[in-house]
Amino acid sequence: MKKNELERRLQRVAPHARPQARLEQYSTPAAVAADMLFTAYAFGDIAGRKVADLGCGTGILSIGAALLGASKVIGIEVDPQAAADARRNAKEAEVEIEVREADVRDVRMKADTVIMNPPFGAQLRNADRPFLEAAVRIAPKVYSLHNARTVEFLTSMLRALDREVYFQKRYKFEIPHMFEFHEKRKKEVEVALLCISSLDVTK
Ligand code: SAH
Repeated sequence: MKKNELERRLQRVAPHARPQARLEQYSTPAAVAADMLFTAYAFGDIAGRKVADLGCGTGILSIGAALLGASKVIGIEVDPQAAADARRNAKEAEVEIEVREADVRDVRMKADTVIMNPPFGAQLRNADRPFLEAAVRIAPKVYSLHNARTVEFLTSMLRALDREVYFQKRYKFEIPHMFEFHEKRKKEVEVALLCISSLDVTK
C-alpha cells in the first residue's frame, strides 16, 4: 500500500466524538499517522510484527498498522467509549485489531513494536512519562509522538532507561484550545516523532 492510499484510508477513521480534556483526547491527523506508520514500516517494525498502540483512542494508529501488514495489533485504551469507537472503526476499515480497556501503567505484555500518540502533558504535567516507561517495558522498538519542546528532556530520560533515540522527525499539528488554556481557538504545536530502540541487543 502506498502512503497516500494509507492516508486516504485513515481519513475515514472517526476521531473522538466528545473529547475529554483530562485524558487529552486529540486524534492524530491522518497525514501524520500515515507518515509515522510508514517510517516504522521502513525500519522493518510493522509488517509481520506484533504491534501495541498505547492510548489507542479511536484506533487510527492501530488500524494503520494492521493495513500495513502487522501480524497482530493490540490497542490499549483507558476510556471505554474510545475503546468501543476503535473496535467499530476497525470493523469499518475491515481490519482485525484487539482493543483492551486498561491503564497503560498496568499493562504487562510483550510486543515487537509500540506505536503511540500519548497525552503531551498539557493537562497533567509529564503525562507522557508513564507511557514511555510502559512502552520500553513492552517492546524493543518504540515510535512515539511528543511535544517538540520536551525532546531534550525525554531523550535523557530514555538514556537512563537504556534506550536511544535513533531517528527523529517533526510535524506541526493543531491541538484544540480545550487542551491548552489559551486565547486562540486552536494552537499549532510542533510535534516530534521519536524512534526509540533498546541499547541492549538482548532485549
Ligand atoms: N492514539 C490515538 C489517541 C491519542 S489521544 C490517536 O493517535 O489518535 C491519547 C489517548 O490516550 C486518549 O484516547 C486517552 O483516552 C488515552 N489515555 C490517556 N491516559 C491513558 C492511560 N493512563 N492509559 C490508557 N490510555 C490513556
